[in-house]
Parts: sequence; C-alpha cells; structure tokens
Amino acid sequence: MIPFPMIPEQKTRIGTPIIPRNKKDPTQSARQVSRMFNDIESRYLDVKRRLKALFDVRMTGRERVDNCQQSWLMCNNEDAEPTLYQVNAGTYIYDMTAAQLADLLQVVQTILDDALLDGGSQNLWALSYVAAEYERGTHAAYTNLAVQSSAYASQTTLVALLSTAVYQNQIASAFISTYSDWKGISDSARADLANIIADAIGRGINPRETASIISKRLDVSMGRAKTIAQTEQVGALRQAQWNETDWASERLGLRAGLMWLSALKATTRSWHAARHGHVYTTEEVRNFYAENGNRYNCYCSQIPCLLNQDGSIYNEGLAERLAKERKEWADAA
Ligand SMILES: [Zn+2]
Repeated sequence: MIPFPMIPEQKTRIGTPIIPRNKKDPTQSARQVSRMFNDIESRYLDVKRRLKALFDVRMTGRERVDNCQQSWLMCNNEDAEPTLYQVNAGTYIYDMTAAQLADLLQVVQTILDDALLDGGSQNLWALSYVAAEYERGTHAAYTNLAVQSSAYASQTTLVALLSTAVYQNQIASAFISTYSDWKGISDSARADLANIIADAIGRGINPRETASIISKRLDVSMGRAKTIAQTEQVGALRQAQWNETDWASERLGLRAGLMWLSALKATTRSWHAARHGHVYTTEEVRNFYAENGNRYNCYCSQIPCLLNQDGSIYNEGLAERLAKERKEWADAA
C-alpha cells in the first residue's frame, strides 16, 4: 500500500466502490423507469378513451360531399418542431356554438388533468416514483460509503439518514419541480388539442380525421412525458447520491468525490462518455446537468468515492479499468 497522509477516521481501511453489475445501466433504474412508463401509457390510454367518448357525443354535425379540399393542419407541442398533417377540409359542418366549443375545451382540460395531475400538488401520482428513486439513491450511496469507510459504516444508519430534515427537505423540493413538470405537460397537451379542435370545427375537418390527429398528438405528448419521467426518476436517484456524498463529507470529514460512470452505449453523448471513470466534485456535476440539456435522456451515474488527500482515486486498479473502458468506447465510436 502506498503511504499517504490520512485523517484518523480513514486510517482503518478504504474499500473499493461498488460498480453496478449492469454496465449499460449504471443507475440500475431500467425496471423502475419502465414501471413508470407503463403507468404513463395507461394514463394516456385512459385520456384517449375518455376523449373519444366525449367527441362522439359533442362533436356532431353533418357530412358534406361537394366541397372537399386537401389541406394541412399545423400542430405544435411546446418546444418541439411543429408538425403538419394532411387533412380534408370542408367535408363536415359542425353544429356547435362558440359556447359549446368553450365548454368542450374545458372538459378536455379536465380529462387531461385527471390523468396527468392525478393526486394534485400534494399527492401527485408521479411523486411516489420520484420519492422511491430518491430513497434508492440514498440507500446506494449509503451502501457504497459503508463499504469504503468503516468510520462511515459505524456512524451512519440508513434509517437515520432517511429521517433527517435535510433529506425530507430534498424530497419536498423534488415534489415541487415534479408537479411543475407534469403541469407543463398537461398544459401544453391542452393547448395543442384546443388548437386542433378549434381548427377542425372552423375548417370542417370531419370528426374521424380529427380524432385520428388528436390520437397522434397524444402520442407526441406521451413521448415527452416519458422523457420527463426518466429525467425525474434518474435525476432524483443522482441527487440523492450527490447529497449523501456532500453530507457524509461534512459530518465525518471524509474526503469523497463523485466517480462518473457512463452507460457507454452507442447513443451516449461523447462528452458524457468522456467523463467515465473520472472523479468530480458535486458542484462540478450539478453544473454539468444544469446546461446543454445534459439531464435529458442521460443514463450516467455518479457514485461516492473516497479519495486520497491530493484528490486522486484511492483504488488505482479501478481507475485504470474504467479508463480502459472509456478508451474502448472512444475507439469504437
Ligand atoms: Zn449521461
């Protein structure tokens, strides 16, 4: 062993960080994410069924045969590029008043909110998934730090960690951002559908065609919802790992950093893969995720890692192994 100055707490031993078994999924959250995806799919299915029933009753009128024009309908869902759908305009005359249209749009909003904001701001359906990941991240950080430091293991219990005020505050703040994410998804879906319905009525696009476009637009919204869900879940898991790394350093005077583990997939962004096996401070990691959309569709993980006094990785064998993986990915890209 190479001698280096150690604080007394670290002198006993430094163990090797636990590297997740499935290298393609360093956060080990594939199962949890797909469970939330299933939930999202059933919510959108429910929206589609309820909207269909609503339109069958409310969007009535009569067909016209003489006046069909090929035309286009432009749809937009917030940040995304607008999409054009080819439609047959002038084939239908709706017998709806402006007041009936306004009322219909109100019901559309209720249907979307029932599904996507189920539980409301205090008990949103998505929160249980986010909280579970936060807890899993804390548990993973705990396990990893306990393996590396006997001082940590002897002075920390998971139950105590989960009941601290800072932990509870983190959950509360995650809840606020989760609610605002889902509010955004519901609002932009409503705006998108309201446009389509108003346009369809104004331009005489028949109910069948209108329903088919609405169904496609809901699929677009669902895709966005899944991206947000994955970002929230894995984001919560990462946050928990970062926080416990910081808090353990403060509580016990450990010298700990965050070791970056990339999924090293074919689709991994090069600047994410380039971090594989390197150690960063929590601040550096937070800054990374704050920019360039880095937090979306990211499968990277950061695990707590005890360091030498000079900030280098204690376990050189591990550092070399990860450097080799990093190089192999770069050579294959
Ligand atoms: Zn990444």
